[in-house]
Formats: sequence, C-alpha cells, structure tokens
Amino acid sequence: MSATEMTAAARWPTRTCDLEGTLRPAEVVTGVRRGAFGLYQRRVRARVFGEPRFEAELVPAEVDPARPHVIAYAAWSRMRDAAVADGIDARDLAIHSAYRSVALQVEVWAYRLDERRRARADAGLPALSERDLARLQMKWTAKPGSSAHHTGFALDLGLYRLGKRGSKTAPAYAWLAHHARRFGFYPYLPEGWHWEYNPPGLVSRLARLRAALARGDEPGDLLGPPMRIPIARPRSG
Ligand SMILES: [Zn+2]
Repeated sequence: MSATEMTAAARWPTRTCDLEGTLRPAEVVTGVRRGAFGLYQRRVRARVFGEPRFEAELVPAEVDPARPHVIAYAAWSRMRDAAVADGIDARDLAIHSAYRSVALQVEVWAYRLDERRRARADAGLPALSERDLARLQMKWTAKPGSSAHHTGFALDLGLYRLGKRGSKTAPAYAWLAHHARRFGFYPYLPEGWHWEYNPPGLVSRLARLRAALARGDEPGDLLGPPMRIPIARPRSG
C-alpha cells in the first residue's frame, strides 16, 4: 500500500460510516442494504433506458475506448477528479469497460454457454438442457438484452483488477461508498468495480437529450456542469 493509499484509507475508514441519514428507500429501484457502508443499489434497467439511439450519446472511442454514455461520463469525470483530489489512486477509478451492445452480448453469451457445455462434458458431468444451462450461466453472464452495460450508464472501474474481494477492501471503494451517490453513481453489490449512473430524474433528462440530438441541437446543460470532452457530431455528407 502506497503512502497516498494509506492516507486515503485512514480518511475513509471502512467501519465507521453511517449513511442512515442519507438513505431514502422510496427512491430505491432495486434496493439491498448490506455491508459496513449501508450501501444500496439503484439499478439501471436496460428495458427502461434502451441502447443509445444516437452516435453522439456515446463518448467517442478516441476519448475513451470503453464508450460510456456522455451523461455518465460527464458525471464520472467530476467524481474521478474529486476522488483523486482526496488521494485516491486514479487507476482504481479509470473506466475499464462501459457500453456493450446487445449484439456483442449475444456473441459473449453464446461463447460462454458453449464453453460451459464443453467444460461439463470434459469433467464427465451429465449434459444439461439448454434451459438449465442458461439458468446456470445467468449467475455469471448477463443475458443479452438485460445488461445495464447496454445503456452506457454502467461502468466497470479499474477496481476490477483487484478481484472480487480486493475491489471492496480498496480505499477507492470506501471513497465511492461515501461519495458516489453525490455524483449519481450507485453500486452493484456483487461486483465492487461495477457502478451505475442512475440519479433521480435520469429518464427524463435522457429523453430531453435525445430530443435535442434529434433536432440537431447542442446538449448544453443536459450533461450537467461543464463537460471535459468533445461531443461527437454526426458526420456530414
Ligand atoms: Zn459491469
């Protein structure tokens, strides 16, 4: 642990946080209170938000190859800056993976299902029906069409590299537990690296952004406080 990490760990102790006063269960879409931080989930529903409808909704690949949604990216960059200013390792907050299309998930799903089928055969286990195999697979891979990553609002952060246990004991996780909500991000409790941008009012803000893009207008303040990235404009001609 580096000196900076130790400072951050001391500042964000893992057991003394009490978020009782900030919990508002009525807002919870899918909520579970669990763990030392009293964290709860507020999941992004792929069926509600859908896939991005305009190319300009996603951050250009040259800015971030993970291509998060521009609204989430704007909030994430403010959150990352605040975390780094508090001594958190920037690598833990970097975006490892964000937008994944339904088409890509179809490929990933088929590949993983096949892998599992072969692994069972190799281990001499009885073959499962497609239905049972899929049910087993759903514990590990999101079924195409259901992943929060389809929206661009789910971010897998650099905490990913620390693994299931390590991601939740890192100072960056403690920092996120205390502050992410202020920036509109909520955890997915089984994976310490997976955070979803889903503040109250996001559905209507997204609808207004799409309406603006359909008219060819600038997104303006729909992205929140000043953006740090160029917005991809539809190519002319
Ligand atoms: Zn994820």
